[in-house]
Amino acid sequence: MKRRKLTTEELIEGVLAGDRLILSRAITLCESQKSDDIRASEALLKAVLPHTGKSMRIGITGVPGVGKSTFIESFGTLVTEQGKKLAVLTIDPSSQKTKGSILGDKTRMEELARNPSAFIRPSASGSALGGVSSKTREAMLLCEAAGFDVIFIETVGVGQSETLVHGMVDFFLLLMLAGAGDELQGIKKGIMEMADAVVINKADGENQKAAKRAKAEYQSALHLFPVDESGWIPQVKTCSALENTGLNEVWEMITKYQSTMHSNGFLVENRKRQQVAWFRENVSEMLGQAFYQNQEIADLLPEILSQVESGALPANSAAYNLMQQFLKN
Ligand code: GDP
Repeated sequence: MKRRKLTTEELIEGVLAGDRLILSRAITLCESQKSDDIRASEALLKAVLPHTGKSMRIGITGVPGVGKSTFIESFGTLVTEQGKKLAVLTIDPSSQKTKGSILGDKTRMEELARNPSAFIRPSASGSALGGVSSKTREAMLLCEAAGFDVIFIETVGVGQSETLVHGMVDFFLLLMLAGAGDELQGIKKGIMEMADAVVINKADGENQKAAKRAKAEYQSALHLFPVDESGWIPQVKTCSALENTGLNEVWEMITKYQSTMHSNGFLVENRKRQQVAWFRENVSEMLGQAFYQNQEIADLLPEILSQVESGALPANSAAYNLMQQFLKN
């Protein structure tokens, strides 16, 4: 049976009341590309905006196999045991290209999925990573309005998506393994630089010694980076997501970060900047869409592209000329 479409008012009311089914449907609405839905989701977001901003936003990244879902399951359970309501959102850069998904399979985080204090939402899909991140940000705001105290945004630590996640969270946590070497772990220096904490997972059994060594190495590596303007010095911790050890220390570190950044004003300042950056991202994306959807541009594009491909026309002047054409319309 087809579900009745909820009105925007019903969605607003349901989200603010913390109704999970309605929250899910509100997120789905925000993910839709249909113009009616886009308008409805704008109204929805505008209405819930005054009720957002109260959660602790935590980004979690690491290469496939590092133990992200195991960590989120254990650490997320600990967070809910602190009396917090937790939402887990994911950004999965793999799903657009391969149609498969590194993060999105259903068997992940089974325990947390059954936890009444947790809400798990698999990644949105979209044509561009920028679009997906925009939707994740909207989902985050909806979760905040629905009363979630802590939001995890999970992504795979292999590329561009980290920068996007970093741009929407308060605290950025990088999961690593001991003894795998940075290259092997596929972690770029830039990602290390964004991290507020490096947490070395699988510090159990025979791996404990190596984890300790890696901790010291990462600590000295992180000291080489310039001190962040927040004044926070990135911490290195070890844990075992499987055996549930070291997780309390991670939680204490994050709560300490939050209270310090609250009192020195950085948290608020950083969020302001993130909002402005989000606005700029939106403008760029909308301009790009308007450009490619323009009929005249669409007509001229194949010929121009073949000239660019063959080297008959430099890419920059091709772009410049087309842009002039677009602006004339
Ligand atoms: P993801 O791809 O980053 O989400 O990684 P998973 O959470 O799926 O974990 C990958 C594998 O590592 C699984 O076989 C887990 O059981 C294992 N694993 C995860 N955390 C730990 C840990 O703390 N210790 C050990 N020994 N294994 C772990």
